[in-house]
Amino acid sequence: MIDEAVKQDVIEEEVSFRDRLATVDEKGKRKWVTAQKPKGKFYNIRTWVSWGFFVLFFTIPFITYHGRPFIMINIPQAEFIIFGKIFWPQDFFIFGIMMITFIVFIVLFTAAFGRLFCGWVCPQTIFMEMLFRKVEYFIEGDAAKQKLLNKGPWTGEKIRKKTTKHIVFFLLAFIIANFFLSYIISMKELEKIITEPVSEHFGGFMSILIFSAVFYGVYAYFREQVCTVVCPYGRLQSVLLDRNSMIVAYDYKRGEPRGKFKKEKTAEINTGDCIDCFQCVKVCPTNIDIRNGTQMECVGCTACIDACDKMMDAVGRPRGLVRYASENGIADGKKLRYTGRMKFYTGLLIVLTGLLTTLLLTRKEVDGTIIRATGQLYQERGADSLSNLYTIKIENKTLNEIPVQLKLEGEMGEIGKVELVGSGHIQVMKEGQGAGSFFIVLPRSAIKSRKIGLKVGLYQGDERITELKTNFMGPFTRF
Ligand code: SF4
Ligand code: SF4
Repeated sequence: MIDEAVKQDVIEEEVSFRDRLATVDEKGKRKWVTAQKPKGKFYNIRTWVSWGFFVLFFTIPFITYHGRPFIMINIPQAEFIIFGKIFWPQDFFIFGIMMITFIVFIVLFTAAFGRLFCGWVCPQTIFMEMLFRKVEYFIEGDAAKQKLLNKGPWTGEKIRKKTTKHIVFFLLAFIIANFFLSYIISMKELEKIITEPVSEHFGGFMSILIFSAVFYGVYAYFREQVCTVVCPYGRLQSVLLDRNSMIVAYDYKRGEPRGKFKKEKTAEINTGDCIDCFQCVKVCPTNIDIRNGTQMECVGCTACIDACDKMMDAVGRPRGLVRYASENGIADGKKLRYTGRMKFYTGLLIVLTGLLTTLLLTRKEVDGTIIRATGQLYQERGADSLSNLYTIKIENKTLNEIPVQLKLEGEMGEIGKVELVGSGHIQVMKEGQGAGSFFIVLPRSAIKSRKIGLKVGLYQGDERITELKTNFMGPFTRF
């Protein structure tokens, strides 16, 4: 039986469509959404995807690489570790490229695949629909029972259920807040906050409490409003989507005119396939009717696809009245195809991702520059050798102090040598810089041109850290 309240809401909204959000009534008051639990193919796959997300979310903070977190985004202290590599403010250009790549990625991805991200992998959707909402179904029952409970008097059962739900919600929010904080300050620091006296980590302790309160507020009360009111990505949909984008769409050509299910279609009863059962509306976590077309509140969660497929099975009509499709695809009555445009965008996205990955993986943790001393060309070294004087600056982006030795590499390394001025190595402080001067000495017989390209290896003990290039300047005449 159709829920009359839901039907009335939809009718009201159709009369004043686009006047307001689907979760706001005519007085501007929030309409609480009690979405029915979806069941079906997409919901099952999304459940598996969410398990994958949970495994990643709760295990990554424990992963370390060379003694440091695998991922750490410490915005307050401008310290970032991505895939175990530290990024300092001087790496900002990489961040710039990352941001540009990310924005291009989002634009192309959304243009081709709509809100696939929101429905399938957005942490907000996953935590809300796959964790908190499931807890709610478990404690309070499905939508109908929840509505009854909400409307009913404060009996012992209602107090027990509501209290249990909110305690569990707060505990979950507390756990998420701890892990969220570990992505900012690292699991090691979080452990200190947990195990050491509160007085020593008052700021950290307060952060956990504030994050817990925020997450609890979001998942217990604010819920879908994050997607429909706050999320900037959601607000951008209207400019990012076009008529060829893949969206969750209602096939109005097949579905209209909608009407109650009748076994036989006659000349008088010639309705479309939509049996106006409102199941797609009842399962919608943002309270919209997908039959009204693409709407900015739609997070592409696929719940309406599952609900409608179930109804189509029940009445013996083909599935896919609500499905992944493009506006043009529906208008032309065609199934969703992996179009040339989508292929092009996918190719571009793969290239961008590859570029970014290469940038991240090839970024050096210890780097430097070698400059030839100005005003000097070369020095005579006895009867058979020449030398050039250089200065070197070394940047150490690691958390360890490094004694750096220099060695001449390649062919010239076998016949020439590096003579460091002062001690035998340059001490480079952790997260700091080191500098020094050195000579490169080559035998005259090896100098076949005025300018010779050389490679200088930077070593820590026997471990080669990196290699820098420079030039050796000899006399104009050949020896
Ligand atoms: S319209 Fe469908 S896909 Fe969009 S949010 Fe509602 S249930 Fe999810
Ligand atoms: S679930 Fe399908 S048949 Fe039922 S109202 Fe929605 S679109 Fe129509």
